[in-house]
Amino acid sequence: MHRNPDIAIVGGGLVGLSSALALQHPDRHICVIESSALQQQKSNGLDARSLALSYASVQIFKALGLWQELKKQASAIKTIHISSQGQWGVTRLRASDYDLEAMGYVIESSKLSAILLDHIQQSKLISLETGAEFESVDFAERVLLRYRRDKKRQKISAGLVLIADGAQSKARSSLGIEHRKIDYRQAAIITNVEVSQPVPGAAYERFTDHGPLAMLPLGRTAYACVWTHAPQSSERLMQLDDRQFIQSLQQCFGFRLGFIERIGQRYAFPLYRTEALTLIKNRCLLIGNAANTLHPVAGQGFNLALRDVACLNHLLAGRSIPALDENSIIRLLDEYETLRTAEQRSVASLGDGLVSLFSNDLPLLKQFRAGALALLDIIPPLKAEIAMSGMGFSFAGNPMLRGQMR
Ligand SMILES: Cc1cc2nc3c(=O)[nH]c(=O)nc-3n(C[C@H](O)[C@H](O)[C@H](O)COP(=O)(O)OP(=O)(O)OC[C@H]3O[C@@H](n4cnc5c(N)ncnc54)[C@H](O)[C@@H]3O)c2cc1C
Repeated sequence: MHRNPDIAIVGGGLVGLSSALALQHPDRHICVIESSALQQQKSNGLDARSLALSYASVQIFKALGLWQELKKQASAIKTIHISSQGQWGVTRLRASDYDLEAMGYVIESSKLSAILLDHIQQSKLISLETGAEFESVDFAERVLLRYRRDKKRQKISAGLVLIADGAQSKARSSLGIEHRKIDYRQAAIITNVEVSQPVPGAAYERFTDHGPLAMLPLGRTAYACVWTHAPQSSERLMQLDDRQFIQSLQQCFGFRLGFIERIGQRYAFPLYRTEALTLIKNRCLLIGNAANTLHPVAGQGFNLALRDVACLNHLLAGRSIPALDENSIIRLLDEYETLRTAEQRSVASLGDGLVSLFSNDLPLLKQFRAGALALLDIIPPLKAEIAMSGMGFSFAGNPMLRGQMR
């Protein structure tokens, strides 16, 4: 374990691991501290959890040389069909309308994590300390991080620290950074289903009186389902047996994919948004869920964090961290905050807007959203704007978006 890394990352979740790979450079040593054992998990078929990767994320993974490997495990989204339950308005977004092979891809989280972990373990520039529980942070010339591993206290000192220890971030609290929490009073039920008439490459977002329902292609006949409900009704749905649950889901989603024939394990998550009041303190920067935890309605949390790390990588290009004094690092992080705050807020507000527009059963709103979807379908520029922001194009200008490091 390197005791004086250039960059330390607290938290080895998807964001911490991706950040380490994105920031690695022959002149830098990076150290990741992760509290869990982080063993490679085998894919667990219909019980797996998955993520939608935006077009921008694919470009970033191309720049990191990981995409060919990830693509073998991912399912392409070629069309997105957006509808509102019981209403006539429908909108379709097609990759071909934007000359793209796919609008995004769906991948099992465990497969993504296994590939990231494998590359980290092969890298001579990154050390990963698992079973290492962050405890406290202090500032001197560098940042002093203390953690506990195997009941022993350890410390490292780093030039720059990324805080990626998730929504309940202990490191964020240790830095005295406050956060705002919005409780959506909703819960997401996540499960995978197998259907009788899959439509290759088709994803569905359906807005219902309870909340949004997304069905994302996952392999040949499986779909990853994220179904949002008020907490009480999600509890009721979680208590149903598989047959009853399939009946409710089928009733809500309809028969666009034929019959729902099989279902994997169900998980329920309470939904809330958190937003750190600042992204930086001294030589530390918050990233991923520690900075922003978003509603999964637009599938943007991980995608947004990847764009954040691509921005940081761009700002660090050609700079040696040991050569940067405290003021230069603070200036660089200030610049990062200025560059990223606007997009982070707009992605979070887009999620909030969709939740309140589409999770409400007021009759007037219902009429409005049906009209909005129909209008969206016949106004190409508006549709393009929504598609572009979902795919992460608001981020143009960064070389990683062209699949290149520099
Ligand atoms: C239902 C649902 C669906 C979603 N779908 C999508 C999607 O389609 N696309 C998308 O982009 N995003 C999606 N997201 C969001 C995405 O899952 C998150 O943005 C992403 O997983 C955040 O990763 P993270 O690494 O920041 O946090 P986490 O996954 O929480 O990882 C934090 C890590 O830090 C470690 N840790 C915690 N405390 C300590 C400590 N004290 N010391 C050391 N280590 C510590 C933890 O063990 C963990 O490994 C979805 C979210 C939900 C809930």
